[in-house]
Amino acid sequence: MQWSSLSSRLSKPLIALLVIIFSVSLAWKFPLASAEEKKLTVYAPQTTYALQVSDHENREYAGVYELLQPLGKVQVRVTGAGYSIRMGDVEGEFQEGRSKIRVGHSEITFPGKVVIDQGRVLLPIRALPAVLSQYLKLHSELHESARRLFIENAAARFSAELKKADGSLVLSFSKPVNPNVSTEGSKLHLLFTRDPVIFGADGFTYNDKLVSSINFVERNGAAEVVVNGTSPLLATFSDGGKTIAISAAPLPSVAQSPTPAPAPVITQPAPAPESASSAPASNVPGTNPPAAAPVSHGVSVNNVVHFFVMIDAGHGGLETGTRFSEKLSEKEITLLLARRLRTELQNRGVNAVLLRDGDTTLSFDQRAVASNAQRAGLYISIHAGGPGTGVRLYTALMPTPEQGKGEKLGPFLPWGTAQAGFLERSRLVAASVVAEMGNKDVNALMTTAPVPPLNSIAAPAFAMEVAPPTSSATPDALSNPSYQQAIAVATATAIVNARPKIEEQR
Ligand SMILES: [Zn+2]
Repeated sequence: MQWSSLSSRLSKPLIALLVIIFSVSLAWKFPLASAEEKKLTVYAPQTTYALQVSDHENREYAGVYELLQPLGKVQVRVTGAGYSIRMGDVEGEFQEGRSKIRVGHSEITFPGKVVIDQGRVLLPIRALPAVLSQYLKLHSELHESARRLFIENAAARFSAELKKADGSLVLSFSKPVNPNVSTEGSKLHLLFTRDPVIFGADGFTYNDKLVSSINFVERNGAAEVVVNGTSPLLATFSDGGKTIAISAAPLPSVAQSPTPAPAPVITQPAPAPESASSAPASNVPGTNPPAAAPVSHGVSVNNVVHFFVMIDAGHGGLETGTRFSEKLSEKEITLLLARRLRTELQNRGVNAVLLRDGDTTLSFDQRAVASNAQRAGLYISIHAGGPGTGVRLYTALMPTPEQGKGEKLGPFLPWGTAQAGFLERSRLVAASVVAEMGNKDVNALMTTAPVPPLNSIAAPAFAMEVAPPTSSATPDALSNPSYQQAIAVATATAIVNARPKIEEQR
């Protein structure tokens, strides 16, 4: 676990360096944190999911099991010659190196070869529509260069209409949508990571005093609408998410500067009077707002905040956490768990962002700043190791006024009480997670502890410590995919169930 105050062990110059590195990396990391991992998004009428894409001999590949599994029960069997994948009464045979597969009574020939990678059967993504059609008799359409696969009638079309009367551009969708909205000067971006949005054109230009053009771009399993304006724009949702009206953003009342619209401001709770003197703000590394304040995931400049979960994989970089063996340390397990949880949340239509998606060293303050600055709707810190078995959920243990005067809780006293107003909702969601873990036969219990940086998080927040499932299991069990998956699924399900309560009073 090792969550003793990390920052107190680092020297000041090192902290300063880390802040700089972090500030720089924020600029590119958060807006499209996972976008540069290649993925194929599959839009089925009942669900949207993403497949990992890898390159083999200059072709893009994705897994057959991963494609079929969300659509029904799939069985995989190792055969003498390769793998057999069965769905219903249709069986397919896949042999490494062949450019032909047999599925049911048909043979599918495709450019490239079957690749078997660590037990996964991979096919060129161009072959996937034929696979779907043989296994499930489903028609699908692949937008190959954008890596978007639409099954049956999953696509959501939209039209754009300029309403001269009230000076707005109205986008009407055939289904409700939930894009991430961001702005950059007088440009407004709507990023659709899960919605099967398609447009009948690449864009239009307008002869209008507010909106000059709209462009539609599809890329890496996502679609984006970019509206170019002559002044800052504002997106307003209505009709249950089927209509987005884009109009002029109200001008700031203080100064009407021609510079890009202001980035969201960190909401930092006022320092508690007793503690302010004991830790001057200038010495608190994390309270410097990130240099390039993120206008990104879930945050739009007009303060229309879309709910997203900030997943914080504990430790990282120089700080390995518990070392379980030569090869296995806590920082790796927490990242794997974090990524699985992100996928499970996204599969359930909940936006999720990883605070670190690589081997990065971050202080507790930096973690709190990142979460608060982006206005996460829920913060989850993940740790792995002991004590005990199963999963422990921690909510913050707020300092009593007496303790608040001391130095015990590290260098971030000024805003060490940010969590206070969210504690009830933090406990509620953690309790929901405990209940779901029970449904997955994972032992879980909930308690309170002064786990940094929970006290500094201005949102419902909890930490989870994942221990091996049983007392006889070795730490290797922590890297067991099915154990990790059970935990990710239970947590994601619980969040979906508790979300109406989490979002109250936001
Ligand atoms: Zn830990």
